[in-house]
Amino acid sequence: MAENKKQVLVTADHLQVYFKGKEKRSGVVKAVDDVSFDIYKGETFGVVGESGCGKSTLGRALIRLIPPTGGRVVLDGTEITDLKGADLRKMRGKAQIIFQDPSACLNPRRNIRQILMEPFEIHKLQKKMDVNARIEELLQLVGMDTYVLSRYPHELSGGQKQRIGIARALALNPDLIICDEAVSALDVSVQAQVLNLLQELKTKLGLTYFFISHNLNVVYQVSDRVAVMYLGKIAEIAAYDRLYEKRYHPYTDALLSTIPQVGESGQGTRIRLEGEVPSPSDPPSGCRFHTRCPRACEHCSRVEPAMREIEPGHFVACHLYDTETV
Ligand code: SF4
Repeated sequence: MAENKKQVLVTADHLQVYFKGKEKRSGVVKAVDDVSFDIYKGETFGVVGESGCGKSTLGRALIRLIPPTGGRVVLDGTEITDLKGADLRKMRGKAQIIFQDPSACLNPRRNIRQILMEPFEIHKLQKKMDVNARIEELLQLVGMDTYVLSRYPHELSGGQKQRIGIARALALNPDLIICDEAVSALDVSVQAQVLNLLQELKTKLGLTYFFISHNLNVVYQVSDRVAVMYLGKIAEIAAYDRLYEKRYHPYTDALLSTIPQVGESGQGTRIRLEGEVPSPSDPPSGCRFHTRCPRACEHCSRVEPAMREIEPGHFVACHLYDTETV
Protein backbone atom coordinates (compact mmCIF):
# COMPACT_ATOMS: atom_id res chain seq x y z
CA MET A 1 0.00 0.00 0.00
CA ALA A 2 2.94 2.37 0.32
CA GLU A 3 3.02 5.41 -1.91
CA ASN A 4 6.31 6.64 -3.34
CA LYS A 5 8.26 9.46 -1.69
CA LYS A 6 6.19 9.48 1.49
CA GLN A 7 7.80 8.14 4.63
CA VAL A 8 5.76 5.51 6.44
CA LEU A 9 5.50 6.02 10.19
CA VAL A 10 3.03 3.25 11.07
CA THR A 11 2.16 0.01 9.33
CA ALA A 12 -0.77 -2.14 10.38
CA ASP A 13 -0.31 -5.51 8.74
CA HIS A 14 -3.27 -7.93 8.81
CA LEU A 15 -4.08 -6.61 12.28
CA GLN A 16 -6.68 -8.47 14.33
CA VAL A 17 -8.20 -7.71 17.71
CA TYR A 18 -10.62 -10.34 18.98
CA PHE A 19 -12.40 -10.36 22.33
CA LYS A 20 -13.67 -13.52 23.96
CA GLY A 21 -16.94 -13.17 25.88
CA LYS A 22 -16.96 -14.06 29.59
CA GLU A 23 -19.84 -16.50 29.20
CA LYS A 24 -18.99 -19.95 27.85
CA ARG A 25 -21.63 -19.68 25.17
CA SER A 26 -20.68 -16.19 24.04
CA GLY A 27 -18.71 -16.07 20.86
CA VAL A 28 -15.62 -14.19 19.79
CA VAL A 29 -16.11 -10.52 18.93
CA LYS A 30 -13.93 -9.65 15.95
CA ALA A 31 -13.57 -5.93 16.70
CA VAL A 32 -10.74 -5.50 14.20
CA ASP A 33 -10.40 -8.20 11.60
CA ASP A 34 -7.48 -8.44 9.19
CA VAL A 35 -6.89 -4.73 8.69
CA SER A 36 -3.86 -3.42 6.77
CA PHE A 37 -2.76 0.15 5.97
CA ASP A 38 0.13 2.58 6.26
CA ILE A 39 0.16 5.98 7.96
CA TYR A 40 2.66 8.47 6.56
CA LYS A 41 4.79 10.83 8.62
CA GLY A 42 3.14 14.22 9.10
CA GLU A 43 -0.33 13.25 7.88
CA THR A 44 -3.68 13.12 9.60
CA PHE A 45 -5.21 9.73 8.93
CA GLY A 46 -8.92 9.96 9.68
CA VAL A 47 -11.12 6.98 10.53
CA VAL A 48 -14.90 7.06 10.27
CA GLY A 49 -17.64 4.51 10.75
CA GLU A 50 -20.72 3.78 12.81
CA SER A 51 -20.54 3.17 16.58
CA GLY A 52 -19.12 -0.26 17.32
CA CYS A 53 -17.31 -0.62 13.99
CA GLY A 54 -13.93 -0.99 15.74
CA LYS A 55 -12.35 2.45 15.19
CA SER A 56 -11.32 3.02 18.81
CA THR A 57 -10.12 -0.56 19.24
CA LEU A 58 -8.00 -0.16 16.12
CA GLY A 59 -6.49 3.10 17.42
CA ARG A 60 -5.66 1.55 20.77
CA ALA A 61 -4.17 -1.57 19.18
CA LEU A 62 -1.86 0.65 17.09
CA ILE A 63 -0.16 1.86 20.28
CA ARG A 64 -0.52 -1.39 22.23
CA LEU A 65 -3.10 -0.12 24.72
CA ILE A 66 -5.00 -3.21 23.58
CA PRO A 67 -2.87 -6.24 22.64
CA PRO A 68 -3.51 -7.39 19.07
CA THR A 69 -4.74 -10.96 18.63
CA GLY A 70 -2.91 -11.34 15.34
CA GLY A 71 -1.02 -9.43 12.68
CA ARG A 72 1.70 -6.84 13.20
CA VAL A 73 2.14 -3.15 13.98
CA VAL A 74 5.36 -1.44 12.93
CA LEU A 75 6.08 2.01 14.36
CA ASP A 76 8.93 3.99 12.84
CA GLY A 77 10.68 0.84 11.61
CA THR A 78 10.28 -1.16 14.84
CA GLU A 79 7.77 -3.95 15.20
CA ILE A 80 5.93 -3.18 18.44
CA THR A 81 3.44 -6.05 18.45
CA ASP A 82 5.31 -8.12 21.06
CA LEU A 83 7.33 -5.47 22.91
CA LYS A 84 7.54 -5.86 26.67
CA GLY A 85 8.96 -4.06 29.72
CA ALA A 86 11.42 -1.23 29.07
CA ASP A 87 11.08 -1.55 25.28
CA LEU A 88 7.32 -1.13 25.49
CA ARG A 89 7.72 1.87 27.82
CA LYS A 90 10.16 3.47 25.42
CA MET A 91 7.71 2.95 22.56
CA ARG A 92 4.96 4.67 24.55
CA GLY A 93 7.02 7.85 24.51
CA LYS A 94 6.72 7.86 20.70
CA ALA A 95 2.99 7.21 20.50
CA GLN A 96 0.38 8.85 22.72
CA ILE A 97 -3.38 9.17 22.87
CA ILE A 98 -5.88 11.97 23.51
CA PHE A 99 -9.11 10.58 24.94
CA GLN A 100 -12.68 11.61 24.28
CA ASP A 101 -13.68 12.61 27.79
CA PRO A 102 -11.20 15.06 29.32
CA SER A 103 -12.96 14.76 32.71
CA ALA A 104 -12.49 11.01 32.87
CA CYS A 105 -8.84 10.93 31.80
CA LEU A 106 -7.47 13.42 34.37
CA ASN A 107 -7.04 12.17 37.94
CA PRO A 108 -9.37 14.34 40.06
CA ARG A 109 -7.11 13.97 43.13
CA ARG A 110 -4.04 15.45 41.44
CA ASN A 111 -3.53 19.07 40.50
CA ILE A 112 -2.53 20.04 36.97
CA ARG A 113 1.19 20.23 37.82
CA GLN A 114 1.06 16.68 39.20
CA ILE A 115 -0.93 15.48 36.18
CA LEU A 116 1.59 16.96 33.76
CA MET A 117 4.42 15.50 35.85
CA GLU A 118 3.10 11.92 35.37
CA PRO A 119 4.79 11.13 32.01
CA PHE A 120 8.16 12.29 33.36
CA GLU A 121 7.73 10.21 36.53
CA ILE A 122 6.74 7.10 34.59
CA HIS A 123 9.73 7.49 32.28
CA LYS A 124 12.04 8.46 35.18
CA LEU A 125 13.09 11.72 33.55
CA GLN A 126 12.87 14.06 36.55
CA LYS A 127 16.63 14.02 37.12
CA LYS A 128 17.56 14.13 33.45
CA MET A 129 15.80 17.33 32.47
CA ASP A 130 14.26 20.52 33.82
CA VAL A 131 10.74 19.15 34.13
CA ASN A 132 9.23 22.36 35.50
CA ALA A 133 10.50 24.32 32.50
CA ARG A 134 9.14 21.62 30.19
CA ILE A 135 5.73 21.76 31.88
CA GLU A 136 5.59 25.52 31.38
CA GLU A 137 6.58 25.03 27.75
CA LEU A 138 3.77 22.48 27.33
CA LEU A 139 1.22 24.90 28.77
CA GLN A 140 2.42 27.55 26.37
CA LEU A 141 2.05 25.15 23.45
CA VAL A 142 -1.59 24.49 24.30
CA GLY A 143 -2.36 28.17 24.97
CA MET A 144 -2.74 28.04 28.74
CA ASP A 145 -1.34 30.12 31.57
CA THR A 146 0.78 28.75 34.40
CA TYR A 147 -1.82 29.77 36.99
CA VAL A 148 -3.68 26.51 36.21
CA LEU A 149 -0.82 24.43 37.61
CA SER A 150 -2.20 24.64 41.14
CA ARG A 151 -5.79 23.98 40.04
CA TYR A 152 -7.60 20.65 40.04
CA PRO A 153 -9.43 19.25 37.00
CA HIS A 154 -12.89 20.09 38.37
CA GLU A 155 -11.89 23.78 38.46
CA LEU A 156 -11.32 23.85 34.68
CA SER A 157 -13.77 24.02 31.78
CA GLY A 158 -14.13 21.11 29.32
CA GLY A 159 -11.97 22.87 26.72
CA GLN A 160 -9.26 23.66 29.30
CA LYS A 161 -9.24 20.04 30.49
CA GLN A 162 -8.84 18.82 26.94
CA ARG A 163 -5.91 21.23 26.46
CA ILE A 164 -4.29 19.68 29.54
CA GLY A 165 -4.92 16.22 28.03
CA ILE A 166 -3.19 17.40 24.85
CA ALA A 167 -0.28 18.89 26.83
CA ARG A 168 0.19 15.59 28.65
CA ALA A 169 0.15 13.69 25.35
CA LEU A 170 2.88 16.03 24.02
CA ALA A 171 5.10 15.74 27.10
CA LEU A 172 7.51 13.15 25.72
CA ASN A 173 7.71 14.55 22.19
CA PRO A 174 5.72 11.78 20.48
CA ASP A 175 5.70 11.18 16.72
CA LEU A 176 2.19 9.74 16.62
CA ILE A 177 -0.94 10.82 18.47
CA ILE A 178 -4.17 8.85 18.47
CA CYS A 179 -7.03 11.36 18.73
CA ASP A 180 -9.89 9.17 19.92
CA GLU A 181 -13.03 11.29 19.49
CA ALA A 182 -10.86 14.07 20.95
CA VAL A 183 -13.41 16.85 20.40
CA SER A 184 -16.69 14.91 20.59
CA ALA A 185 -17.42 15.77 24.23
CA LEU A 186 -16.88 19.53 23.71
CA ASP A 187 -19.28 22.34 22.79
CA VAL A 188 -19.23 23.22 19.11
CA SER A 189 -17.37 26.54 19.58
CA VAL A 190 -14.77 24.86 21.82
CA GLN A 191 -14.48 22.01 19.31
CA ALA A 192 -13.36 24.49 16.68
CA GLN A 193 -10.73 25.98 19.00
CA VAL A 194 -9.32 22.56 19.93
CA LEU A 195 -9.28 21.45 16.27
CA ASN A 196 -7.38 24.61 15.35
CA LEU A 197 -4.94 23.95 18.18
CA LEU A 198 -4.38 20.37 16.97
CA GLN A 199 -3.71 21.66 13.45
CA GLU A 200 -1.22 24.26 14.74
CA LEU A 201 0.60 21.68 16.84
CA LYS A 202 0.77 19.28 13.92
CA THR A 203 2.52 21.89 11.80
CA LYS A 204 4.75 23.24 14.56
CA LEU A 205 5.87 19.87 15.95
CA GLY A 206 5.66 17.69 12.84
CA LEU A 207 3.10 15.37 14.44
CA THR A 208 1.20 12.54 12.82
CA TYR A 209 -2.42 12.00 13.85
CA PHE A 210 -4.66 8.94 13.75
CA PHE A 211 -7.92 10.81 14.02
CA ILE A 212 -11.00 8.85 15.07
CA SER A 213 -14.42 10.46 14.97
CA HIS A 214 -18.03 9.54 14.34
CA ASN A 215 -18.48 13.12 13.10
CA LEU A 216 -17.84 13.07 9.35
CA ASN A 217 -17.57 16.84 9.09
CA VAL A 218 -14.83 16.90 11.71
CA VAL A 219 -12.89 14.09 10.03
CA TYR A 220 -13.14 15.85 6.67
CA GLN A 221 -12.00 19.11 8.19
CA VAL A 222 -8.74 17.72 9.54
CA SER A 223 -7.77 14.62 7.54
CA ASP A 224 -5.32 14.16 4.69
CA ARG A 225 -6.63 10.64 4.07
CA VAL A 226 -9.71 8.89 5.34
CA ALA A 227 -10.38 5.21 6.08
CA VAL A 228 -13.99 4.06 6.25
CA MET A 229 -14.60 1.17 8.67
CA TYR A 230 -17.50 -1.21 8.77
CA LEU A 231 -17.86 -4.01 11.31
CA GLY A 232 -14.16 -4.52 11.99
CA LYS A 233 -13.04 -4.16 8.37
CA ILE A 234 -11.83 -1.26 6.26
CA ALA A 235 -14.14 -0.67 3.31
CA GLU A 236 -12.30 2.18 1.57
CA ILE A 237 -9.21 4.37 1.98
CA ALA A 238 -8.50 7.51 -0.03
CA ALA A 239 -7.33 11.10 0.18
CA TYR A 240 -10.16 13.13 1.72
CA ASP A 241 -10.67 15.26 -1.40
CA ARG A 242 -10.82 12.11 -3.58
CA LEU A 243 -13.62 10.74 -1.41
CA TYR A 244 -15.53 13.98 -1.87
CA GLU A 245 -15.25 13.62 -5.65
CA LYS A 246 -15.64 9.88 -6.06
CA ARG A 247 -16.28 7.14 -3.55
CA TYR A 248 -16.61 3.61 -4.78
CA HIS A 249 -17.78 1.47 -1.88
CA PRO A 250 -21.58 1.45 -1.42
CA TYR A 251 -21.15 1.87 2.34
CA THR A 252 -18.90 4.93 1.92
CA ASP A 253 -21.46 6.37 -0.44
CA ALA A 254 -24.26 5.88 2.07
CA LEU A 255 -22.18 7.19 4.98
CA LEU A 256 -20.94 10.30 3.20
CA SER A 257 -24.33 11.09 1.72
CA THR A 258 -25.37 12.04 5.27
CA ILE A 259 -23.10 15.12 5.11
CA PRO A 260 -25.51 17.76 3.75
CA GLN A 261 -23.05 19.65 1.53
CA VAL A 262 -21.78 16.42 -0.06
CA GLY A 263 -25.30 15.25 -0.84
CA GLU A 264 -26.34 18.61 -2.22
CA SER A 265 -23.35 19.44 -4.40
CA GLY A 266 -22.10 16.07 -5.54
CA GLN A 267 -23.48 12.64 -5.78
CA GLY A 268 -27.15 12.96 -5.01
CA THR A 269 -29.13 12.95 -1.81
CA ARG A 270 -29.04 10.93 1.36
CA ILE A 271 -28.90 7.15 0.96
CA ARG A 272 -30.82 5.35 3.67
CA LEU A 273 -29.48 1.96 4.70
CA GLU A 274 -32.01 -0.67 5.69
CA GLY A 275 -31.49 -2.87 8.74
CA GLU A 276 -29.43 -2.76 11.89
CA VAL A 277 -25.65 -3.06 12.01
CA PRO A 278 -25.03 -6.81 12.54
CA SER A 279 -23.24 -7.96 15.69
CA PRO A 280 -19.44 -8.26 15.40
CA SER A 281 -19.73 -11.52 17.38
CA ASP A 282 -21.80 -12.99 14.56
CA PRO A 283 -20.81 -11.10 11.42
CA PRO A 284 -22.44 -11.92 8.07
CA SER A 285 -20.62 -14.32 5.77
CA GLY A 286 -18.86 -13.05 2.65
CA CYS A 287 -18.87 -9.26 2.51
CA ARG A 288 -19.89 -8.03 5.97
CA PHE A 289 -21.93 -5.25 4.42
CA HIS A 290 -24.05 -7.51 2.20
CA THR A 291 -27.07 -7.60 4.55
CA ARG A 292 -27.50 -3.83 4.16
CA CYS A 293 -25.93 -3.20 0.76
CA PRO A 294 -28.31 -2.00 -1.97
CA ARG A 295 -25.98 -3.52 -4.61
CA ALA A 296 -25.39 -6.94 -3.01
CA CYS A 297 -25.69 -10.13 -5.06
CA GLU A 298 -25.51 -13.79 -4.12
CA HIS A 299 -21.72 -13.76 -4.65
CA CYS A 300 -21.39 -11.03 -1.98
CA SER A 301 -22.89 -13.29 0.69
CA ARG A 302 -20.40 -16.06 -0.06
CA VAL A 303 -17.06 -14.45 -0.88
CA GLU A 304 -15.28 -11.78 1.12
CA PRO A 305 -13.95 -9.03 -1.16
CA ALA A 306 -10.22 -8.27 -1.08
CA MET A 307 -8.88 -4.73 -0.74
CA ARG A 308 -7.78 -3.43 -4.16
CA GLU A 309 -6.04 -0.27 -5.27
CA ILE A 310 -8.34 0.92 -8.03
CA GLU A 311 -6.66 4.29 -8.50
CA PRO A 312 -3.30 5.42 -7.13
CA GLY A 313 -3.75 5.69 -3.37
CA HIS A 314 -7.46 4.78 -3.50
CA PHE A 315 -8.23 1.37 -1.96
CA VAL A 316 -11.61 -0.34 -2.01
CA ALA A 317 -12.88 -3.70 -0.72
CA CYS A 318 -15.90 -4.50 -2.88
CA HIS A 319 -16.65 -7.12 -5.53
CA LEU A 320 -17.97 -4.43 -7.86
CA TYR A 321 -14.34 -3.51 -8.54
CA ASP A 322 -12.75 -6.94 -8.50
CA THR A 323 -12.69 -7.24 -12.25
CA GLU A 324 -14.08 -4.06 -13.72
CA THR A 325 -11.78 -1.36 -15.04
CA VAL A 326 -12.94 1.82 -13.38
FE1 SF4 B 1 -22.07 -4.44 -1.59
FE2 SF4 B 1 -21.20 -6.75 -2.56
FE3 SF4 B 1 -19.63 -4.60 -2.64
FE4 SF4 B 1 -20.14 -5.80 -0.33
S1 SF4 B 1 -19.01 -6.68 -2.05
S2 SF4 B 1 -20.16 -3.63 -0.72
S3 SF4 B 1 -22.25 -6.44 -0.62
S4 SF4 B 1 -21.58 -4.87 -3.75
